[in-house]
Amino acid sequence: MAILAVGSVAFDTVETPFGRAERVLGGSASFFSVAASFFVPVNLVAVVGGDFGEEQLRAFRGRTIDLEGLERKDGATFHWQGKYSYDLNSRETVRTDLNVFEHFKPRIPAPYRTSDGVFLGNIDPVLQREVLAQVEKPRIVVCDTMNFWIARKPEELRETLRKVDILLINDAEARELSGEWNIVKAARAVRALGPQTLVIKKGEHGVLMFGEEGSFAAPAFPLEEVFDPTGAGDTFAGGFLGYLAGAGAPGDAALRRAVVMGSTLASFCVEAFSLDRLLTLTRPEIDERYRRFQKLTHFEQI
Ligand code: AMP
Repeated sequence: MAILAVGSVAFDTVETPFGRAERVLGGSASFFSVAASFFVPVNLVAVVGGDFGEEQLRAFRGRTIDLEGLERKDGATFHWQGKYSYDLNSRETVRTDLNVFEHFKPRIPAPYRTSDGVFLGNIDPVLQREVLAQVEKPRIVVCDTMNFWIARKPEELRETLRKVDILLINDAEARELSGEWNIVKAARAVRALGPQTLVIKKGEHGVLMFGEEGSFAAPAFPLEEVFDPTGAGDTFAGGFLGYLAGAGAPGDAALRRAVVMGSTLASFCVEAFSLDRLLTLTRPEIDERYRRFQKLTHFEQI
């Protein structure tokens, strides 16, 4: 039931209207792995530099996250700096220092090749495909991408998408990828590229899923305080695929529960900087918020 996760492990510098965090743990694979490890074992594939020490590794230790695939290279760890305005839905990338990530060639340790699920974090679509080529018949392949790859490597991305079961992107990316402004038409066009299921993330406005059995919508959990949205998308992906991989029977009902579980995990992520809230989170807290989610969205037939 293990998931292979490939993506960035990073130092993030984040500025929000409520404060600033300097060189804290971040990266798509970090948020994903910690969130998914609440449900199933995770095999982490990423690269870090010599400046990534025991203090940072502690976030992964003591969880079901295997670190054999976490490569250490000479040089500095990937660093990303972002700034949010009062509208926490929009962020500006202040700087991206690729460092050791620039020449990242994912190497999949032999025991990881039989992973049941694969999460292709937001990296070059060529590398995403190289990862897939090293895994034997995974049951579910989930992929994330961003406008950068849609614009720079459209053909390579399309080739990768042919091998993907579930694509997670935001609404602007769905429009850009399909060339359709209307989100329903955009979803149909994106699904025609390969993924049977498309999950569109809309930040504080929640998630829309389009699949073989119709569509499903979930709001974001209404929180009184949103502190830092960084990593919410990857945390959503971790809760979503983690739940799905552990759920056994696939299908529309499991996909719907996975969307709510992803949204539940993401709602904790945004309560603090970095992975701080995820690292103190417990399974009973997750289950309690999941139930509140159910109550929030439940209504009777008339
Ligand atoms: P999210 O908020 O879920 O979109 O993900 C934020 C995380 O993505 C941050 O922790 C960053 O370290 C990481 N990130 C930002 N830009 C990139 C990039 N170009 N490639 C890989 N990871 C990135």
